[in-house]
Amino acid sequence: MELKKNEIYTAQITDYTTEGSGVCKINGIAVFVPSTAVGDTVSVKIVKSAKNYAYGRAEEIISPSNQRKEPDCAVFGKCGGCTFRHIDYSAELEFKQKRVVDTMTRIGGVDSGLIEKIIGAKSCNFYRNKAQLPVTADKNGKICVGFFAPRSHRVVPLDECHLQSKAFAPAIKIFLEWANSINIKPYDEQTHTGILRHLYLRYAEKTDELMVCIIANANELRHEKQLVQLLVDNVPNLKTVVLNTNTDKTNVIVGKKCRTLYGDGYITDELCGLKFRISPLSFYQVNRTQAERLYGIAAEYADLKSDETLIDMYCGTGTIGLTMAHNAKKLIGVEIIPQAIEDAKKNAKFNGIENAEFICADASSAAEALSKRKIKPDCIVLDPPRKGCDSKLISTISSMSPSRVVYVSCDPATLARDIKIFSEYGYNAEKITPVDLFPRTVHVECVVLLTKVHN
Ligand code: SAH
Repeated sequence: MELKKNEIYTAQITDYTTEGSGVCKINGIAVFVPSTAVGDTVSVKIVKSAKNYAYGRAEEIISPSNQRKEPDCAVFGKCGGCTFRHIDYSAELEFKQKRVVDTMTRIGGVDSGLIEKIIGAKSCNFYRNKAQLPVTADKNGKICVGFFAPRSHRVVPLDECHLQSKAFAPAIKIFLEWANSINIKPYDEQTHTGILRHLYLRYAEKTDELMVCIIANANELRHEKQLVQLLVDNVPNLKTVVLNTNTDKTNVIVGKKCRTLYGDGYITDELCGLKFRISPLSFYQVNRTQAERLYGIAAEYADLKSDETLIDMYCGTGTIGLTMAHNAKKLIGVEIIPQAIEDAKKNAKFNGIENAEFICADASSAAEALSKRKIKPDCIVLDPPRKGCDSKLISTISSMSPSRVVYVSCDPATLARDIKIFSEYGYNAEKITPVDLFPRTVHVECVVLLTKVHN
């Protein structure tokens, strides 16, 4: 029988959903209760009820789980950023390991014995080198920045975030002082009016360089020179200031047009011993320390020899391929964003890498073109966005017959789906390592070695 809305029950949390919500069974029906821990006994108020499941809210923790810890952030549960500030990190890693094992075995048909132990982070706080903060006004009309509440576009104002680099604080303060002093309006999604959409910050941890990018519903800002001067005077590690224009009615954050207001329009970080330039439109892993460990495993799986050809699909600014290029004869990187390819080419030059070629194209079309060019890769690295690879790409890759495919993924579900497709083309998963690039959030990265079965 369906559970009644607003009814209160006592239940024990026995599992987590893939989104990290606690799950309990009430009258045989699964009830999802956010911000609870496996082992909690809670009193649950039903907030939404369907035939086979319901959503609940924990009214009271009657007996806490031994996984629990006191959340160390005032807006935990209100802001949509963190899922796991209420349990200890070892319990979070256990959840992530189980999530990967369940998904790989259930959807990917992979033997659980192939999945290595998750590589946890040494530091769970202040690791994010990128922040995109929506700009809004509080009830007194004062401009502030914050984060979106879970599953909504309501901005939760915030003073300090435990995920973001501490290097952002001085620039946030100056930006808000400037915005509040010139009476500029935050952008309003509903009416498509106002100017300031997001404050977008990036930090190169190794070189201590900061990028400030203002995303605006305009091509210029009133008093933009004054903003630059204030930032230059007060933020010692400021390297560049960029104005990004996004006049579209969209929830895509960054627009296509950038104008540099100060500096070179990019910052430079170091990763696996190489230098990489990062501009506002190009992808760069948000957790530098864990990215180095991830790329280390990818290199180990790729196991390149000096006479081999490597294709780095979805290469962004070339990071993965370039860190492996010294072991290979030739590297070909493929990426759809022109600015990222420009960065990749410069990164190759910058690091004295002469055996790299970069192609700006959709992965599938590029694979076909490379196949027509009779390129015979020995190894292909894939690092697609969350939606994974399209099946046509997998089929073209298989026809190119590399002996190894190294698949780096930020979504276990689409990864498992693609592993299954690869297996139909004779590529079997040999090893899978989950890496925690995003502590305190529900996300988990995986790197997989697929090898061609000889028959
Ligand atoms: N390997 C890089 C970037 C991974 S993120 C790194 O580790 O830094 C995924 C990248 O795929 C992004 O740079 C994105 O712009 C690119 N991308 C998205 N769709 C694509 C497509 N259809 N073809 C090629 N590249 C694509």
